[in-house]
Amino acid sequence: MRREENERAGSLFVYSEEMGQFDFGPDHPFKPERATKTYDLCTRYGVLNYPWMTILRPEPLETGLAHLFHEAAYLELLRAASRGEVRLEMLERGLGTQDTPILPGIYEWSLRAAGGTHEAMKRLLGNEARTAFNPLGGFHHAMPGHAEGFCYINDIVVAILDVLRRQPDLRIAYVDLDAHHGNGVQTPFYGDPRVLFISLHETGRTLYPWSGYETETGEQDGKGFTVNVPLEPGTDDEVYSYVVDSVLLPLLQSFAPHLTVAQLGADVLISDPLTHLKLTNNAYQKTIKGLVHMSPKVLGLGGGGYDLYRTSRCWTLAWSILNDVEPVDEFAGLVGGMMFGPEMEVGSLYDHPFLSKGDVKDKAFEEARRVVAYIQKEVFPIHGISS
Ligand SMILES: [Zn+2]
Repeated sequence: MRREENERAGSLFVYSEEMGQFDFGPDHPFKPERATKTYDLCTRYGVLNYPWMTILRPEPLETGLAHLFHEAAYLELLRAASRGEVRLEMLERGLGTQDTPILPGIYEWSLRAAGGTHEAMKRLLGNEARTAFNPLGGFHHAMPGHAEGFCYINDIVVAILDVLRRQPDLRIAYVDLDAHHGNGVQTPFYGDPRVLFISLHETGRTLYPWSGYETETGEQDGKGFTVNVPLEPGTDDEVYSYVVDSVLLPLLQSFAPHLTVAQLGADVLISDPLTHLKLTNNAYQKTIKGLVHMSPKVLGLGGGGYDLYRTSRCWTLAWSILNDVEPVDEFAGLVGGMMFGPEMEVGSLYDHPFLSKGDVKDKAFEEARRVVAYIQKEVFPIHGISS
């Protein structure tokens, strides 16, 4: 996808200030203000002011659409919880746990986040845009009947199910870069070859949601269309790039999607407080460049990312890559200029290189090679790829 194509067809940045103000509470790691920080950083780096870019204000998803994936009883309990009601059966649905607390307005907020993803996808497929990014979306853990992993309504699944209903011949690639396995998206498409699901994540042996092993490859018609790449703690840019080049890019090329939905969780970074991968945003950028190259249309979504400042840097870079524009710090060199995050990194969006060493590195590479060999043996033949 080239810049000229964006210029012709346009791009969408899904954002509203009110959405960024929603608060999960001081002790909860999920901070919607990351979207605001991303918007501010994109503005500061001059990557939001090109004429083909549009800010799309998310409207609430029609509740009927939420029913495409979620159980009516769950949605009703979520709505009641959002209004301040407390019922015993809420807890069985994940509502009121530490990860997915009951918050006033959470139902409406989640519907609006999902509405942003849905509208962006609709416009992409209606040729009103070529690329879009919703930093308020990417809730890949939400299940049909319960909330988990900071996710209440699965914006990704709802949007994909709706477009497949209207355009059943579409090929959609779903690429999940979040450090956590995209379990809530894997499940509904496990038998569906129209959706190529590829998730790169920290192994389920050490991280929630404890799933996403390489042996999970889909079933029936969907066999080979679910691809999981579990990674060891300590996985660095070098190991990650090896996996991207060996598995992700060949599969995308062979599948030739009409649309790629990319969950761009930034909790893979070395500084993330919740995970154990050790990436810098250099590998993250390279991966996004690769998938953009293989996809005629891309819908990028937020997701995890609990180092707020570095997450917003990642997403500023992601937006720049999606649009093929170069971020330039218009304030660089100004004494007493606006400070943004740790002082030593002011003036650059790019992380310093980092590579793991010793046993940690050896083990990460060894496991990655084993997983890649498994996928090349079991999955590649289904796609007619010779490894
Ligand atoms: Zn995550």
